[in-house]
Amino acid sequence: MLAITDALRECHRLRRHLRDLQAEIDRGPRVLQGQQETLEAARQAHKDHHDSITKLKVKQRTDETSLKEVETRLAKLEQQLLGISVAKEITAKQSEIKQAQAKKDELEESILTTIAEIEKRTNEIPAVEKTWADAQAAFKEFEKEAAERLERLKADQESSLATLKETETKIPSAMKPKYDTLVKAHGPEAMVAAKARVCQGCRRSLTEQKWTEVRNGAFYLCPHCGKIMYPIVE
Ligand SMILES: [Zn+2]
Repeated sequence: MLAITDALRECHRLRRHLRDLQAEIDRGPRVLQGQQETLEAARQAHKDHHDSITKLKVKQRTDETSLKEVETRLAKLEQQLLGISVAKEITAKQSEIKQAQAKKDELEESILTTIAEIEKRTNEIPAVEKTWADAQAAFKEFEKEAAERLERLKADQESSLATLKETETKIPSAMKPKYDTLVKAHGPEAMVAAKARVCQGCRRSLTEQKWTEVRNGAFYLCPHCGKIMYPIVE
């Protein structure tokens, strides 16, 4: 008779274990998605760094072209100034020269700032490359571990399911339909342990007589919560 209580205890353990395995398998894609997002952020940061250097180089070239134009213009204005004798025209030309000179200073300043920034970002490249390589390696490692974990979980699932089927054959056929109905409705929660006369599900007590019956292997449902009960004997 005790074989039934052992079988129920084992069925309960296996069904809870199978539920946990399935939950862990189901979590896999979400965890993978999180890792992919991390990798994607690292890819973007790496790309942004290189793009910023490219943009700065374009800005430097544009400014250098503008600078040449201003310098040409400035030389022309200064040349023109030499040929003017009317005071009013001299003042106007000087004003033009002053504006061109200001533009030239501004461009030179901007070019120096850009060059410094390019140098700074270029020096950062080794660290940026390392961060990107590390992110890719971490993702690869995660993928490998996830595949191994999934394989392990599925193997465990398969063997646990086989053991469950085998164990459930020990439940007497008279009890089987009730067992099947309850398990189908509630999963692992269809079963509950009782310890020292107390249902571990609803925490309520059994009579001494019922407790004796449960311990003797009767197929018994908790009178309070209705779960299939099996004893844990100290
Ligand atoms: Zn109960």
